[in-house]
Amino acid sequence: MEQTSVEQRPVDGRAYQHWSISEDVIERGRQAERVLEPVFRRLEALREENQLRVLKAMQAARVSESGFGGTTGYGYDDLGREQLEAAFAEVMGAERALVRWSITTGTQAIAACLYGSLRPGDELLSVTGAPYDTLTAVIGTGTETGGAGPGGGLGVGSLRDFGVRFRSVDMAADGLPDWDAVAQAVRPETRMVLIQRSRGYSARQALRMAHIERLIQSVRAQKPDVLVLVDNCYGEWTDTREPCAAGADLCAGSLIKNPGGGIAPGGGYIAGTAAAVERAAAHLTAPGLGRHVGATFGVTRLLMQGLFLSPHVVCESLKGMALAAYLFEQAGLKTSPAFDAVRGDIIQVLEFGCAEDMIRFCQGVQQSAPVDAFVSPVPAPMPGYDCDVIMAAGAFVQGSSLELSADGPLKPPYRAFMQGGLVYEQVKLAALLFLQKTADLGGTPGGPAPCA
Ligand SMILES: *Cc1c(COP(=O)(O)O)cnc(C)c1O
Repeated sequence: MEQTSVEQRPVDGRAYQHWSISEDVIERGRQAERVLEPVFRRLEALREENQLRVLKAMQAARVSESGFGGTTGYGYDDLGREQLEAAFAEVMGAERALVRWSITTGTQAIAACLYGSLRPGDELLSVTGAPYDTLTAVIGTGTETGGAGPGGGLGVGSLRDFGVRFRSVDMAADGLPDWDAVAQAVRPETRMVLIQRSRGYSARQALRMAHIERLIQSVRAQKPDVLVLVDNCYGEWTDTREPCAAGADLCAGSLIKNPGGGIAPGGGYIAGTAAAVERAAAHLTAPGLGRHVGATFGVTRLLMQGLFLSPHVVCESLKGMALAAYLFEQAGLKTSPAFDAVRGDIIQVLEFGCAEDMIRFCQGVQQSAPVDAFVSPVPAPMPGYDCDVIMAAGAFVQGSSLELSADGPLKPPYRAFMQGGLVYEQVKLAALLFLQKTADLGGTPGGPAPCA
């Protein structure tokens, strides 16, 4: 009897001809994929669990085509918006959610959570070190008006203007929370604790849900009614639970990152307890109106489809980051996290050691893009930086960092942050392009990249 078999066929190198990738470099990609097989299987299991959670939530919310039409004007009783927010709340393990195109950025989503719940005399405590850069002006920890450093944010309506004080506990040397310091950090005036899940653009580690749960238990042991807000940006669907399921009162993020699935054209979300979400909604619209207004103008279908696709896209991105980590480590670069690490966000840090390699890498990322691949990024000054910055991105949605992008300040140790990737194959192409450029300059395949 003839046996049926699944043919194993490695990629035909001719597919890479357009980018002049040599057979040698293509083979390094194939070899990497053989090593990464168990990592990919683990990520696919994560994807399956999250995809089923999303599907179940959308079915439970009775998502229907009739909700896609949208509303105008006040937007009362917008069916699609209510279905989307019900589905989102369930996936987040929350009582309630706001999912709006009108929440312009992740920063706005987080700010609404802060302004919604904090009152004069309250203290906000970060237990994961300095918050993400864009929050310094919100909190009022900057130097100039609205900028970074002491005295900033004053006069523009920062939390500090309203008499809300801020304190933070630095992360420990291992890049994780300083558990001992956190265990005695809460004071009577501490009204809210802020936890940042992702590493953001710093050298710390991304938190896993077990870390977040431990932080929440630690601060609640000191003050049972302290509110906990998780900056969830970049972390969604990297675990099988989200922060509200681990006890957070609120979490917030951007729809041009993970939960927008690359389909949402913009927007942000807030999820949490009914009371805390209502307070954030009252800040976003007006007291008395809250979440009950907000016309959707027909955007709901895109936000819904984005949510549906997002566990899949996050998995593509995670696989791409793992592959890049392995290939760059093999090429002698310092990378973080390691290729086989269990990740808590979709960011990969690559340390190039010299400007030339970092620029070549960013140019390769640009050359791999579906949009604007014909332009070449060059280092340029940026407000808030004391050196040139290089940025590579060719995205369908402006600034979307769920789409593959790479950037970093051009100064020692020449560290670039790479994130996203709607499809794994593009991330792989970007990595191979760097290896090819290195080989063309005489770098030995598998050996250290040549720094000038
Ligand atoms: C992106 C991000 C933010 C802010 O998001 P924007 O949409 O850029 O305003 C906040 N925190 C973290 C960790 C982020 O990655």
